[in-house]
Amino acid sequence: MFDVHKIREDFPILNQQVYGKPLVYFDNAATSQKPHVVIDSISDYYQKINANIHRGVHKLSQVSTDAYEQSREKIRSHINAKHAYEVLFTSGTTMGVNLVASGFTTLLKKGDEVIVSALEHHSNIVPWQMLCERTGAVLKVIPMNESGELKLDEFDGLLSDKTKIVTVNHISNALGTVNPIKYIIDKAHSFGAAVFIDGAQAVPHLVPDVRALDCDFYAFSGHKMCGPTGSGILYGKEEWLEKLPPYQGGGEMIKEVTFEKTTYAGLPHKFEAGTPNIEAGIVLGTAVDYLNSIGFENIQAQEKKLLDYGTSELLKIDGIKIVGTAKEKTSVISFNIDGIHPYDAGTIIDKMAIAVRTGHHCAQPIMQFFDIPGTIRASFAFYNTTEEIDRLIEAVIKAKTMLS
Ligand code: PMP
Repeated sequence: MFDVHKIREDFPILNQQVYGKPLVYFDNAATSQKPHVVIDSISDYYQKINANIHRGVHKLSQVSTDAYEQSREKIRSHINAKHAYEVLFTSGTTMGVNLVASGFTTLLKKGDEVIVSALEHHSNIVPWQMLCERTGAVLKVIPMNESGELKLDEFDGLLSDKTKIVTVNHISNALGTVNPIKYIIDKAHSFGAAVFIDGAQAVPHLVPDVRALDCDFYAFSGHKMCGPTGSGILYGKEEWLEKLPPYQGGGEMIKEVTFEKTTYAGLPHKFEAGTPNIEAGIVLGTAVDYLNSIGFENIQAQEKKLLDYGTSELLKIDGIKIVGTAKEKTSVISFNIDGIHPYDAGTIIDKMAIAVRTGHHCAQPIMQFFDIPGTIRASFAFYNTTEEIDRLIEAVIKAKTMLS
């Protein structure tokens, strides 16, 4: 039985006062909070098994290498990748995007096309723009409608044999839209283009099956799914990872180094130069176990309840405009109060001990589309409650009264 009050006991940070009031944490799309089991695993790592991995023949190094590789295997199984060596440890989604965009430099020529969507986070726009600047490729954008849904008929029209890679997020951080990525993947493949999925906002809410999706790359960050900052995964299909050159040179990624020529290690080590964030990689596996122990059906049911309740309660307030009303949405509500700047409202909401995000959410093109400076974004996790939403409603009414 899912008992949200029992689950909240797993998260020590939630049990605190801010400005003398109990904290309400609604900034989960920026980063999630961490359960005891994750916090304890970080400490355990340093107290019991800290040693550099894949080096030295000593026992402790073998123990930490085994823990790191077991975590890789756990994540492989979680996302249903075919091989563990297709699962690369990264520092987060941003690194995953940059690794692939950098690698594509060798595969693109002038006039080739890269397709992104209008719904992207800056980290899934800028690396592709930089790739286009380096290669002379052209960036095309899948437009969206007023609900914050991608216009698929226009996407179809953008595809051609010049399209080399299509990159979209699974779920938008700014609006919560769940994108029809299976359609996008299949359609792009029919033109021979590779597909990169930014899964940063998806993995806290659902389990991506990378083989069923048939995506070529899928990147995510550990810190948004109850794991440590500095942990992340880039899944890549073996054939693509073999095609891409190494991202960084250094220790661990080589087979043999001479001053005349260096040969590279096989997957996944070719892309894992230097000492990684070992503890974060291991503890990301702990976070995945924790989420699975709660159960993604339970997570989704609780978050849907929060989304429905929050949406209907907010809409009862005069002058509230929800930005992003897609049919398929996760538990993100981006909104504005008529005539009030989101920063001003955010300041008052903060003083009521409610953590929401205000601004452009690293998605300025979305704000340009709606012609707004930003939004107030409340993003819910499975450990949030409807009582906390009541606190948000109270704070929004207060902000509106004070600023009108
Ligand atoms: N893409 C999306 C959709 C995101 O929400 C984020 C984080 N806000 C990122 C990419 C970047 O993730 P990170 O900062 O963890 O690398």
